[in-house]
Amino acid sequence: MYNSKIMKIDFREIESGKNRYEFNVEPEEIDFENSWVDFNENVIATVEAVSSNDEIIVRGKGRTVAKSDCVRCLKPVKLPLEINVNVVIHRTEGPIEKDTGDDDFVVVSQAEGVYDLAPHFREAFLIELPTKILCSDNCKGLCPSCGVDLNVRTCDCSNNKGSGTWDALRDLLR
Ligand SMILES: [Zn+2]
Ligand SMILES: [Zn+2]
Repeated sequence: MYNSKIMKIDFREIESGKNRYEFNVEPEEIDFENSWVDFNENVIATVEAVSSNDEIIVRGKGRTVAKSDCVRCLKPVKLPLEINVNVVIHRTEGPIEKDTGDDDFVVVSQAEGVYDLAPHFREAFLIELPTKILCSDNCKGLCPSCGVDLNVRTCDCSNNKGSGTWDALRDLLR
């Protein structure tokens, strides 16, 4: 077992056969910066790397919690995420073709001392995010006229027939 703060496989230390890594890294290490949700909890991951000759088969599991606001009522929502990462790393002495077009199969030069798994974890977490964040599937949202949280209480706006723009808009959407 080997603990690290950064999600790197060190080729100089890896042993033939099974290697196990545990990572507990701050979200900054994963570089979620441009994401549309907030990542401010650590990423916990376990990785098994099976090394033979010039090939390393990596299987990892990771979890963290992302945060955002419900798109309907704007309440903060926690999104626990659990992902799997599978990568085959091929080490070569020859020239490297830049783009294999496959993120799960990477070719790296023998000259490289370490391989950073963080981009694989980042991508897996981002893919796992729902396209629409809701506090619950049946969130009633905010009243578009008076702004009350309709999950908490009701308002009279919808009974107020002909009360301007919202009704006109609703008719348009019908
Ligand atoms: Zn909501
Ligand atoms: Zn209202």
